[in-house]
Amino acid sequence: MSTGTARFKSGSQLSSRSKLIWKIVQTLVWFVGAAIFLSLIFFPTLGITLFWDILIPVAPALIVVAVGVWRNVCPLATTALLPRKLGLSQRKIMSSELQGILSLVSVICLYAIVPLRHFIFNVSGHATAYLLFGVATVAVTMGFFYEWKSAWCSSLCPVHPVEKLYGSNVMFALPNAHCQQCQKCVSPCPDSTANLSPLSYHKTVYHRISAMLIVGGLPGFIWGWFHVPDQVRGLSWESLADIYTMPLLCMAGTIICYGVVTLLFDDKYLRTIAGVFAASAVSCYYWYRIPALFGFGKFTGDGLLVDLSHVIPYWSIVTIIVLVALFFFWWIVFRKPNKASWIVRPAYAQRV
Ligand code: SF4
Repeated sequence: MSTGTARFKSGSQLSSRSKLIWKIVQTLVWFVGAAIFLSLIFFPTLGITLFWDILIPVAPALIVVAVGVWRNVCPLATTALLPRKLGLSQRKIMSSELQGILSLVSVICLYAIVPLRHFIFNVSGHATAYLLFGVATVAVTMGFFYEWKSAWCSSLCPVHPVEKLYGSNVMFALPNAHCQQCQKCVSPCPDSTANLSPLSYHKTVYHRISAMLIVGGLPGFIWGWFHVPDQVRGLSWESLADIYTMPLLCMAGTIICYGVVTLLFDDKYLRTIAGVFAASAVSCYYWYRIPALFGFGKFTGDGLLVDLSHVIPYWSIVTIIVLVALFFFWWIVFRKPNKASWIVRPAYAQRV
């Protein structure tokens, strides 16, 4: 049994000391998020470095290993859940159909927004700040209507499809530092389901399409994205076509591969196939992102954190990215599923 499920049984409540510690951590991380947001406005170069070249590159690895940490402290989640925590939410329970539609919209948003990094977000702190403000506005507005994380974190958040794909075999389950009692706001609950994957959702056609798009499409999308340079020639149809064509074509290619492979193999291998695609996607990300961070990128200057190209040999970077890829394949594909959920479900509420 996983250490997480052994330590925090389903329905267990956080002690007041644990609650206090998680509240402090959530508040600190929220202020870090606010500081990054303000630096995007007032010190754009610093803000871009902090957000796109430090926070975002760390996120996929954290999601693979311990997505529950992120789910408990994400500043946007803390913001989105404010209406619920302040007693201002109508606390509606979302229908399965709407959950499916929103999960599809979240995947489409992911694939629509990420290419725009090449066009504007990677080079404009103000644009990135507008993006975050817009996303936070939608998240909080949803929070006024829907119960707990169904409002944003488990529905419309564009990072959530990636969480479901990468977080299929986490290290351990953490206590739930947001939901005070489980109101069964989403089913299955992504936080509380052991070894969750996008394939765990098949209630509606929207769920099935979004699962196919994220599992099959993400490896190709990432590979294509890294073969497009940041655009600095202003808004035009040509530059928009440039940033979308390669990622979307490659995404279509890997979706076709995924479709063929799932037809060739028995259904009992579907989760393993999804794991191979997940490991390929996150490995591909770091295969290109780590060299770019340290001055060995395909496009000079794009995504650069610190230029070490004259300090360390290229083979050392190659060694790191090979080891990172081996780690992700071992962690996601070959490691035995440990039956740990991201987070332990709190006690069920008696709903009146
Ligand atoms: S634990 Fe319960 S209340 Fe919290 S997100 Fe999951 S289903 Fe919703």
